[in-house]
Amino acid sequence: MAVKRTPFIAGNWKMNLDHLQSIAFVQKLAWSLADAKHDFADAEVAVFPPFTDLRSVQTLIAADSLPLAYGAQDLSAHDSGAYTGEISGAFLAQLDCTYVIIGHSERRTLHHETDLDVNAKVVAAQRHGLVPVICVGETAEDLEAHGPSAVPVRQLRTALAGVDGSKGIVVAYEPVWAIGSGQAATPEQAQQVCEALRGVIAELLGADVAAATRILYGGSVKATNIASFLREPDVDGALVGGASLDIDEFSSIVRFKK
Ligand code: PGA
Repeated sequence: MAVKRTPFIAGNWKMNLDHLQSIAFVQKLAWSLADAKHDFADAEVAVFPPFTDLRSVQTLIAADSLPLAYGAQDLSAHDSGAYTGEISGAFLAQLDCTYVIIGHSERRTLHHETDLDVNAKVVAAQRHGLVPVICVGETAEDLEAHGPSAVPVRQLRTALAGVDGSKGIVVAYEPVWAIGSGQAATPEQAQQVCEALRGVIAELLGADVAAATRILYGGSVKATNIASFLREPDVDGALVGGASLDIDEFSSIVRFKK
């Protein structure tokens, strides 16, 4: 039986917007979404600000009961101790984060995070009651050498070792060549890989978890292409980078019409 998955639109702010700017931004975003509430009622919307914004975003969302979820862009695999510069999942849980992005290609490339590092972080997120948004994706060279699904499938397999499917995960397929390039994958390419990723989840965590898990597409998503991705059966939402920093553009993405 087909399971209905709530579409998920996530804004990854990356290293943009300081804590004061985040307050103004979230307020404006909430107004913009409230204007359109009938249109976006069936999508869950989340923002992923820098660590230093999280307390401000938490306070604002809680005080005004805004219909927005939020999370962090990374966490430490460790819980506490001598890890200068790291942020523990325990701290994020204290700030009522629901989600945490793990294994974004910028972390994998710029901070040399391996598949095993990503797995340790996914397990740490679950240990603290956070839902990991596990990012996978191939480079242009991987695509050329191995075809579309091989690298994302390998990354996800390793990421899911020791994971408790009942606690919930989100997966984001983000081809590295599509991130910030203006060159999004085609909906058919996204569907092909997302379907393969759902197969991995089914194999490792069972068919019910696979059917319930939201798999997002990310990479140059904008208001003009979101609907074409959401029409694909295995694409349940989007992880949006650049376009999540433009309130009009992001609210148009959230108001996608299939
Ligand atoms: P982009 O980034 O939407 O700017 O391509 C996506 C991401 O990095 O998550």
